[in-house]
Amino acid sequence: MRVAIAGAGLAGLSCAKYLCDAGHTPIVLEARDVLGGKVAAWQDDDGDWYETGLHIFFGAYRNMRQLFKELDIEDRLQWKSHSMIFNQKEVPGTYSRFDFPDIPAPLNGLAAILSNNDMLTWGEKIAFGIGLVPAILRGQSYVEECDQYSWSEWLRLHNIPERVNDEVFLAMSKALNFINPEEISSTVVLTALNRFLQETDGSRMAFLDGNPPERLCQPIVDHIRAHGGEVFLNAPLREIHLAEDGSVGGFRIAGIKGNEPREVVADAYVSAMPVDPLKLLLPDPWKLLPYFSKLDGLNGVPVINIHLWFDRKLTEIDHLLFSRSDLLSVYADMSNTCREYADPERSMLELVFAPAHDWIGRPDEEIVAATMEELKRLFPQHFTGDVPAQLRKSIVVKTPRSVYKTVPGCQQLRPDQASPIPNFFLAGCFTMQRYLASMEGAVLSGKQCAAAIDRNLGGAAEPGRATSRLAAV
Ligand SMILES: Cc1cc2nc3c(=O)[nH]c(=O)nc-3n(C[C@H](O)[C@H](O)[C@H](O)COP(=O)(O)OP(=O)(O)OC[C@H]3O[C@@H](n4cnc5c(N)ncnc54)[C@H](O)[C@@H]3O)c2cc1C
Repeated sequence: MRVAIAGAGLAGLSCAKYLCDAGHTPIVLEARDVLGGKVAAWQDDDGDWYETGLHIFFGAYRNMRQLFKELDIEDRLQWKSHSMIFNQKEVPGTYSRFDFPDIPAPLNGLAAILSNNDMLTWGEKIAFGIGLVPAILRGQSYVEECDQYSWSEWLRLHNIPERVNDEVFLAMSKALNFINPEEISSTVVLTALNRFLQETDGSRMAFLDGNPPERLCQPIVDHIRAHGGEVFLNAPLREIHLAEDGSVGGFRIAGIKGNEPREVVADAYVSAMPVDPLKLLLPDPWKLLPYFSKLDGLNGVPVINIHLWFDRKLTEIDHLLFSRSDLLSVYADMSNTCREYADPERSMLELVFAPAHDWIGRPDEEIVAATMEELKRLFPQHFTGDVPAQLRKSIVVKTPRSVYKTVPGCQQLRPDQASPIPNFFLAGCFTMQRYLASMEGAVLSGKQCAAAIDRNLGGAAEPGRATSRLAAV
């Protein structure tokens, strides 16, 4: 069976990979000239890489880890010590750590929380622990019910002091969805906490050893091609062409960068695009169907990824850091954390700037200047002395609509991978799967999508019936 897939982010590539493994032939059509979608990266004129986002892999990412194993690239994940490291607000330039000892969950998580006395008092830890009891006893059904509350509301309902929010969850909420605890659905935070507390290595973090398009996406593409599938860049879907019976008759692809416009005809069709462009391409008759109309409630959230190259080392820390700043979310010195970006002499900080709503339209210079002000708090020893660290170069990457904004009420809007149109399917981290808007969610959505196609249509296709006019490319 031939399957046309629009979008070569992790969801589209994972869907294509698992379709190949099931004996089908995917044709992946990516709008841009780069693989990876939200993990896309580029090289500047100096050969330095810059990325759409600073990306962390967690131990809890079972499907992602399985994918690395299947591609035989497990050694590309650089695992860090099992810790979470926060900047101390009150003492600039210092850190507070949650260190997870090497004992089974949930004991390792409890030990990490109980042994940290910098951020939470014992009273706050006990109040928070009691608040979590329903989540521990009732599991995912309770977590899903909590989608009616923002995280701040959930904390208030459980009489947990507001200070807990400021100390821990402001940073966590911004790391999870680039928004503040007043906005984020409590389902998102509780899902992450559940994974972290129930799985021994759930919160352990890894960095990829280099740029994601080459080190992660390309091996998936190689696998797809080795199994007879095809992947095309510069091939934007412009129209979902309907057949007379209302099913999809073809994907109409715009002609850009010297390519002729064309129509790709297949047995099944997948949108692995983000939810925002998908909504713009829905055929009019579909917009009335609840499955599609509820997508109106899912909207990409803005985020900014900043790269700063310095003339010296600012830190030796080889880990993700939670800035606990109003402007910034997480950051890392990639010259320490990532093999391909390694530099023993000079730091390259990659920082996630969030919430970015008020900043996304501002010039790069203003964003960099505001970030540099924050760095005076994060690294006072390097920016306040007689010979402050010099910024050699900066690159700002803005994503006005990134992952869907996980505000309360969104869970019920997330679509299943199988749509009401028999030959049309969805993949993407916004579709329903147990891991929120993440790389793991994208990979799992692709896997679930491939399984749904195989289940629903796998036996139906006659060999040789499908035609693809891609040969014209
Ligand atoms: C700054 C930032 C930091 C992040 N940090 C983390 C992290 O630490 N850990 C984590 O797990 N996740 C993180 N994420 C989230 C993660 O990157 C995403 O959840 C995931 O990559 C989404 O994959 P996707 O395939 O669903 O969508 P996308 O990656 O958006 O892929 C969709 C693809 O569709 C293509 N497309 C769009 N329109 C068309 C069209 N008309 N025709 C054809 N193709 C089209 C796009 O170009 C894109 O390649 C982060 C995201 C950002 C932005």
